[in-house]
Amino acid sequence: MRVWIDHAECSGVGVCVDACPEIFTLESDSLAYITVAGHRFGSNDPANVSDEMLESVLDAAEDCPQDCIYVAA
Ligand code: SF4
Repeated sequence: MRVWIDHAECSGVGVCVDACPEIFTLESDSLAYITVAGHRFGSNDPANVSDEMLESVLDAAEDCPQDCIYVAA
């Protein structure tokens, strides 16, 4: 599964961090980032995420008030 954030739309509220803190972090630039295996992914930069994380990642995408978290197979 690939997951990415469009920073042009991210409002930095951090709902994604509440839903899935294993992957999403809120940084000092007030944007959410995805980090996997120590690598931080930038805007529209797809991260490969394990299937075990699917439920919480989908929760984050569904809860995101800006609808700027994208998930693809
Ligand atoms: S929930 Fe969406 S808008 Fe809010 S910080 Fe996360 S990615 Fe950005």
